[in-house]
Amino acid sequence: MTDQPTPITDEMPEEWITELVDHIEADGHDIADAHETAVVIRLTAHSRKVLAADDSDRLFVIGWADDGDIHWGLSIDGAHVPVLHALGGDSPSGIADRAHRVLTTGRPVPRDVRHALPYAAVSGSCVCPVVYPCGGIVPAAECGEHGGRRSPAMEWHWEANCPPATP
Ligand SMILES: [Zn+2]
Ligand SMILES: [Zn+2]
Repeated sequence: MTDQPTPITDEMPEEWITELVDHIEADGHDIADAHETAVVIRLTAHSRKVLAADDSDRLFVIGWADDGDIHWGLSIDGAHVPVLHALGGDSPSGIADRAHRVLTTGRPVPRDVRHALPYAAVSGSCVCPVVYPCGGIVPAAECGEHGGRRSPAMEWHWEANCPPATP
């Protein structure tokens, strides 16, 4: 990665930090650090997979950026975040909800995408995009296994209604 590390320097309101941490912990995430410039969460194996994290990235940082927007990014040390992504949210619980969705699905808001859990196990030759947290697929026309419109049998749902991941 060639991006220059971007330090998150602006400060969060202190009462927000406490409330944000409470919500994040209630969602089952492990807080590594929380202070006025950032809330840092330890990545789980599932989050690392969903976010395609580098081997060195162990932490998920939520921070205030110069423009006042809330961002997230992966970090080695919790202080420097090479790539910032928009998180959004206008309250501690809203920010926590979005962070939880990023950590479990890779994006802060659900895609408006209907996808499927095939009844049969998905083979290595499947080329369909995978949707988290359920690990379901968006059947791709070019997939030899799931390209057909009617078969195989699948259970369909929207991303907002994804069942939790099965470990
Ligand atoms: Zn497929
Ligand atoms: Zn799903």
